[in-house]
Amino acid sequence: MADIQRRKTPTVWIGQVRVGWEVPVVVQSMTNTDTADVAATVEQVAALALAGSELVRVTVNNEDAAAAVPAIIEGLDKRGIRVPIIGDFHYNGHLLLKKFPEAARGLAKYRINPGNVSIGRKDDDNFRTMIECAVENHKPVRIGVNWGSLDQALLTRMMDENNKRPDPQPAREVMIEAMIASALNSASAAERYGLGHDMIILSAKVSGVRDLIDVYTRLAERCDYPLHLGLTEAGMGSKGLIASTAGLAPLLLAGIGDTIRVSLTPKPGGDRTEEVRASQQILQSLSIRSFMPQVTSCPGCGRTTSTYFQELAEQIQGYLRASMPEWRKKYAGVEELKLAVMGCVVNGPGESKHANLGISLPGTFEDPKAPVYVDGKLYTTLRGDSIVAEFKQILDNYVESHYGQRATSGELVETR
Ligand code: SF4
Repeated sequence: MADIQRRKTPTVWIGQVRVGWEVPVVVQSMTNTDTADVAATVEQVAALALAGSELVRVTVNNEDAAAAVPAIIEGLDKRGIRVPIIGDFHYNGHLLLKKFPEAARGLAKYRINPGNVSIGRKDDDNFRTMIECAVENHKPVRIGVNWGSLDQALLTRMMDENNKRPDPQPAREVMIEAMIASALNSASAAERYGLGHDMIILSAKVSGVRDLIDVYTRLAERCDYPLHLGLTEAGMGSKGLIASTAGLAPLLLAGIGDTIRVSLTPKPGGDRTEEVRASQQILQSLSIRSFMPQVTSCPGCGRTTSTYFQELAEQIQGYLRASMPEWRKKYAGVEELKLAVMGCVVNGPGESKHANLGISLPGTFEDPKAPVYVDGKLYTTLRGDSIVAEFKQILDNYVESHYGQRATSGELVETR
């Protein structure tokens, strides 16, 4: 598999996390709690961080939210959670950063949306104030353009200029160019106001997959700032997951993108950490980073009339997820482990042999036995009611013998 050639960028430090071409693509997420609710926000940031979010953004939308930031950071600190907290500012960031210096100091990065501050208008004092605050506190800034809040003055001007051309471009073209111009003009202004070139990250989020690919491809060609990727307002469930993957994958494979977020709309009361797992899965599916053991399972068909193998696949997936926080600390490299859980003998043994550990369950009318393969070789055959428990035991033994500190030969010795 050819290596991905990452686009070269300066390295930007966000707290203790490095972002840029020399380090792996970073996963980030955003809370949906009321930031002023310290307990709820600490709880959710902790959950996101434990799920693997390496940066967490919180909205800082009013004075109560800004006042809560130091307590949130302290609450996380007490729990031993050191994830950098990014403040998301719109409209009033210049006022909040000035009035709440402790928040300005505690946040690891400021996200500024140029469409929602004064940049591009007659005076850009609000934008300038925020940048000066970043300079004073040695904080990097993400200039985050979003097509839903694109600088209207800039867009109108570019539309007018386009209309006067002998060969006017389609409106979509002008919109893409306006997003790029908004990001680059804002970055130039930020540097003029004293922010270092290596203190800036850009994003230009849209909700259409092809628009996203076009806007980032062009942005990547025209600057060397690190880029934060994400499809904005990706949507719910499979739509959000598939659209985000379709948009991010071609860019990541082209070496574009230094941090990513999958902006899923959760179900009411849904699990916010789903967006972290989605980002991780995109990166792992593209062989860019590994986060947790992967389970290959077949879709099932008429040969599997019972749901037994689906249940096994689900139980193994759940077991891996539950075990990973501990395994990550004890077993270096365990995230590379590959498992296969297959429904019958048609592809079961073949797929199992490609995995580190594979089990092929009996299909309808097959003998009630489940051959288990370890590193491509038949290891044992399970029968009876305790197949799940026995397979988990084999999995535990494999992890200990291959990734444990005392792992030497990596040989798994059959116990029966
Ligand atoms: S492995 Fe067997 S059960 Fe699974 S999809 Fe293929 S034929 Fe069907």
